[in-house]
Amino acid sequence: MIFQKIINREVPSDIVYEDDYLIAFKDVNPKAKVHVLIVPKDSSIQNLNDINKGNIYYIEKIFLAVPSIAASLGLTDYKLLTNCGRGAGQEIFHLHFHLMGGGPC
Ligand code: 5GP
Repeated sequence: MIFQKIINREVPSDIVYEDDYLIAFKDVNPKAKVHVLIVPKDSSIQNLNDINKGNIYYIEKIFLAVPSIAASLGLTDYKLLTNCGRGAGQEIFHLHFHLMGGGPC
């Protein structure tokens, strides 16, 4: 799984934030001037359908980190989204949130 390889440093990426629970790195194919992916360090969580009471702390960690990650990228206005399922455009089945801003997105 590609995002796990990024976490493991087996695949290079432009990391903008990391802690024990999550990593954030620039999207390789940005759809906005600033486009970062925020990913929990648990590849068993494929998307929001896998969130439960035992792993919801990842969502808390991510949402608490978003404002400071956005600020560190110079964003005051931004969009946060996650695609859940192929029909919604999900390509990578390791939960991630797209943080986008810096212009139209
Ligand atoms: P999804 O469609 O699953 O919501 O979004 C997957 C995102 O991952 C896409 O925006 C795509 O550009 C990005 N992506 C796919 N492979 C890589 C990669 O190897 N490195 C980085 N940095 N982003 C990737």
